[in-house]
Amino acid sequence: MKVAIIGGGIAGISAAMNLLKNDDYSVDIYEAKNNLGGRVFSMPSGHNNQIIDNGKHIMVGAYHNFFELLKELGTYQFIRCQDNLEVLLQSQEYSFTLQSGKYGDLALVQSLWKFQKASTSEKIKLVKFFVKLKIKAKNLDKYLTEIKDLTVEEYLNKNKISTEFIKYIFEPIVLATINTTIQKAPAELFVQVMTKAFFSSPENQKLCFSQVPLVDLFIPLADKYPKRLKIFTNSLITKIRITDKNFGVFYNQQWLNYDAIILATQHNFIKKILATSYLHDLLNVKSLHFFREVRTNSILSIYFWTKQKFMEGDFRGFVGSTIHWIFKEKRLKNCYALTVSSADDFTVFPRDFVYNLALASLEKIIPEFDRSKVEHHVVYLDKFATIGINPQIEQFRPDNKLVKGIYFAGDWTNTNLPATMESAATSGKMAAKILQEDFAT
Ligand SMILES: Cc1cc2nc3c(=O)[nH]c(=O)nc-3n(C[C@H](O)[C@H](O)[C@H](O)COP(=O)(O)OP(=O)(O)OC[C@H]3O[C@@H](n4cnc5c(N)ncnc54)[C@H](O)[C@@H]3O)c2cc1C
Repeated sequence: MKVAIIGGGIAGISAAMNLLKNDDYSVDIYEAKNNLGGRVFSMPSGHNNQIIDNGKHIMVGAYHNFFELLKELGTYQFIRCQDNLEVLLQSQEYSFTLQSGKYGDLALVQSLWKFQKASTSEKIKLVKFFVKLKIKAKNLDKYLTEIKDLTVEEYLNKNKISTEFIKYIFEPIVLATINTTIQKAPAELFVQVMTKAFFSSPENQKLCFSQVPLVDLFIPLADKYPKRLKIFTNSLITKIRITDKNFGVFYNQQWLNYDAIILATQHNFIKKILATSYLHDLLNVKSLHFFREVRTNSILSIYFWTKQKFMEGDFRGFVGSTIHWIFKEKRLKNCYALTVSSADDFTVFPRDFVYNLALASLEKIIPEFDRSKVEHHVVYLDKFATIGINPQIEQFRPDNKLVKGIYFAGDWTNTNLPATMESAATSGKMAAKILQEDFAT
């Protein structure tokens, strides 16, 4: 079986690796850019020849499919996870550490009990909510159907969670994982995140980070299957076709034939590619609705280098601030990364204005920080960082199969996960599985 994969991001890499485990398969990956990794990439910082990523990427221990992929590529060794979940959440007037330990949920509840901005009765309501989630997790699909129309804000209010708990705990979780506000994020995805990561095992709760530039995680793919895998970079595919016998990819002014194609591009390229061969007529109502309605959400990242250290610890989450996270970039001396999720409001402003606004916010929240000590900075604003998910869009995320022989893979497909690296890895794995099942008979 010969399969073409269009798009060499995590979803495309995951699909390729999962197909190539089967000796009967050979794969050609076509990638528009000059290297693999897609929306995860690294670039020169313009400072001391140092390489930075296109934004700090947070992972959690529950990224099972993404980590499985890295293990197969031999690069999982470059991922470091916390011993136990520990996150400092800080506003201008209060800071609080959300912690877990080897006793998992119990330790988490214990740390939440120390939260001084909630009364005892509000804490009891939160514990009741956790217990309810634990019980509902046993029959999760049914519960998710019950809450499918709710946003996170509506859902938390319904469960009588106090405003301060929402502000200090749930807003940061939702922004970091779903890249949107609690007013828009679907309760369904929030519950998936809570049950799969925050209220599962201590292993799943931990936060993890790459110790190397992200792009290095995927380099070994090129030599992994020398006989059965070909990677064509700088290869933008604009047309595919379907015939009685096989499927075609238009490349270098000619049609190349395959037994199947996996479209592993961002969602906005899919319709364009399908439209060239009238294949979009095959999309079902659900997918058509998705492609018509879906929008993207931005992420703002600012890297800066200071003359001296100004903060203890490796990272912090900010509450009630313009900026959401700060990370110490441990592999680079005195380098820090700021992150703003759901950053669409910033897209209209000049980069210098955005930089000054973000650093002024940092000065307010960490008074030890002094803007005049910054030696170099890079502002990177990605307008297409993730799809913007709300309860309606979540219902319409397309499945992996268009017809026998044409499949979708990408963080935007129906994985029941936020649009993350884990969703991309899961989607690629699912596409490869369905394809193999289709052709097994
Ligand atoms: C700034 C930023 C921060 C993020 N932070 C996090 C985080 O903290 N944690 C997390 O888990 N996730 C994070 N994400 C999201 C994560 O990067 C994505 O979910 C994931 O990389 C998506 O992978 P993918 O394979 O689905 O899509 P992509 O990576 O977009 O891959 C699609 C590939 O298809 C190629 N392509 C498109 N059209 C064509 C064509 N016609 N022909 C050939 N090739 C084509 C593209 O060049 C691209 O390489 C972040 C993303 C950004 C941008």
